[in-house]
Amino acid sequence: MGWRYRPGRGRGPEKARPAVTEKLPPEVLRIFHEKGFSAPLVGVTGGKGGVGKTTVAVNLACALADLGHRVGLVDADVDGPNAAILLGVPLEDSRPVTIAVPVIDATRCTSCGECVRACRAHALFLPRAEAPLLLGACNGCGTCGIVCPEQAVGEEQRLVGRTYRSVRGLLTLYSGELVPSVEESTLVVNGLWQRVRGEADAHDILLVDTSPGTHCNVINALRGADDVLAVTEPTPLGAHDLELMLGLLDLFELKGEVVLNRCDLPGDAGKILAAAGRHGRSVAATIALDAQLVRSYAEGTPVVRAHPGVPSALSLGRLAADLAARHLP
Ligand code: SF4
Ligand code: SF4
Repeated sequence: MGWRYRPGRGRGPEKARPAVTEKLPPEVLRIFHEKGFSAPLVGVTGGKGGVGKTTVAVNLACALADLGHRVGLVDADVDGPNAAILLGVPLEDSRPVTIAVPVIDATRCTSCGECVRACRAHALFLPRAEAPLLLGACNGCGTCGIVCPEQAVGEEQRLVGRTYRSVRGLLTLYSGELVPSVEESTLVVNGLWQRVRGEADAHDILLVDTSPGTHCNVINALRGADDVLAVTEPTPLGAHDLELMLGLLDLFELKGEVVLNRCDLPGDAGKILAAAGRHGRSVAATIALDAQLVRSYAEGTPVVRAHPGVPSALSLGRLAADLAARHLP
């Protein structure tokens, strides 16, 4: 008997809760928890967009750097990277992420259609008695070239995204960005991690800001995480999506706690506490929505630096100190 998990993207209350019918096989968990470097990795995630996940990640990164730690902040939300904007730094040190896409030699092609049938991405279209055309989202798997009996399939590199690295003092921001119209965000996430892994141990601690939701890119971004902060807000949708996220953490046996952002919104914080309790998770921090937090968001200066004495900054500073005490010698 296998296991089932229904991912959600955090769009609305109609989604079902994750259906976990069995624990993941130990071999899957072992591979999932391998990270390939020794610096602690903390995931900052949230079941839905707009809960302030990136604000929390950016402020924690700054607070940890201001405590004297070398911090790598990975913005793995390649569909909408905005950590650089909130940090107020430009994207620098660009590197392309490319894939090899097929180029078909029409003079060799017999229009047999083997490549079209073999393409699991349905990226090839076969016009009548002509060479196939690449119309869909090719993932660069190379299968079409392998199955072609006429050696008619060559390849060329196509740009799918870019990765960036911006260094400010003890803080290094790694960002990935998908080229518009490209769908394969996993390729850019993988390119970003390849870059981060190459220099991960130059940092004392790494924080990864994931995409919202509980889909494959989020799971990929949380691979090897030593700790996860699930950011939410006291709204019905926040409580619902927190359940999905905590189900994901349970399934992958990830350590983690809840961060209740905008705790003073006129919502129902009791539902958040109840959801956390059902999953045996504690609330690591509650963060007030004070005017300075909103202003710092608009100005692109993290609140822990712009207004270190306000309640939101104090909560974020305490959470950073807790992370340091837990993960750093
Ligand atoms: S490389 Fe893979 S995904 Fe791309 S067209 Fe060929 S078979 Fe399809
Ligand atoms: S498998 Fe080769 S010969 Fe057949 S349609 Fe594709 S490119 Fe042409």
